[in-house]
Amino acid sequence: MEDGRALANMRSKMIRLACTGLYVSGALALLRWCAKRMMPAAHGAAGAVFPFVMKRRAPSLQILTYHRVNDEHDPFFPATPVDVFEKQMAYVARRHHVCALDEAVERLRLGDLPDHAVAITFDDGYRDNYLHAFPVVKSLSLPMTIFLATDAIGTGRTLWHDRVFSAFRDTAAPAIRGFGPAFDGASLRTVRERIGVMGQVLASLRQVHDDERNRRITELCRALEVRERVEDPELMLTWDDVKRMRGHGVSFGSHTASHPILSRLSRQETVAEIERSCAAMERHLGERPVLFAYPNGTKADFTDMTKDVLKASGFRCAVTTEFGVNEPGADRFELKRGRPWEEHLPTFAFKLSWYRLMSSHAA
Ligand SMILES: [Zn+2]
Repeated sequence: MEDGRALANMRSKMIRLACTGLYVSGALALLRWCAKRMMPAAHGAAGAVFPFVMKRRAPSLQILTYHRVNDEHDPFFPATPVDVFEKQMAYVARRHHVCALDEAVERLRLGDLPDHAVAITFDDGYRDNYLHAFPVVKSLSLPMTIFLATDAIGTGRTLWHDRVFSAFRDTAAPAIRGFGPAFDGASLRTVRERIGVMGQVLASLRQVHDDERNRRITELCRALEVRERVEDPELMLTWDDVKRMRGHGVSFGSHTASHPILSRLSRQETVAEIERSCAAMERHLGERPVLFAYPNGTKADFTDMTKDVLKASGFRCAVTTEFGVNEPGADRFELKRGRPWEEHLPTFAFKLSWYRLMSSHAA
């Protein structure tokens, strides 16, 4: 195990070194040039064909996903450090064409995107988006979109996954007891162990319906001997924060009301979640949202029925957390996104262009 970690560390150091070399030597500009003009020549089952690349027909769209930006260095609530976010935004402002998401999606449809188009998005609606990310994007005049889980906005209520993060951060229990045979006895002595068990618990909680999930989280807190943090007045945005950001290039989309896993809900429950979220945004902002982000966002977390409900509710597009770059012809209700990937700027810059070069056109 330790050997595996040492190897991974070594590999990551080598990649950073290589990316730094590309970055400082100016060779990254060549990669950017290629990403602008070329794409892989893959043809169905035949796979890649010589000469392996073909001329790009139209620019593609990369959508970045952030959640939290702060310097708390809390391993249970991962966040992008403020200085890293500043450097990443300064880089994309300098080297990419940052578009507002709704404009970018429309221009993708029309095949009219600028080269190196990027859109910046945030999920959930954490207060640090206003405190730390907003000043950065405002100073650079960059547009961004924040997807709000509206039950938590201005109420002090916490989202279900944050209740799980808090429980594992706050526990002093040496092992988990009374949470079912799959977890009982798992050691919680180190931060690494707690994070490992937390990941497994989160995965199991995504498999069940909302009501069952809430019941299980209460059981989890009992098993970890901690108080369930159903409220945290500082964690999420208030509607005043939201209004202060509006008009400065920040747009807002829906991320549902309570952040359920939509594929677990009936049509009636899906409509109710989405309508409650739209109604809250309309009440506070005076207009219904047209942009949507699926909670958790993998293919397993939404269905064709979810997409039908969104279309019927007047949404123009929906973003997933499926990794990738969006080519012209992409399904507007299954837009792919990428993480900020790396805190090390040259590696971030390299991956931004590398993933664009390696993306293939939609079928
Ligand atoms: Zn989310």
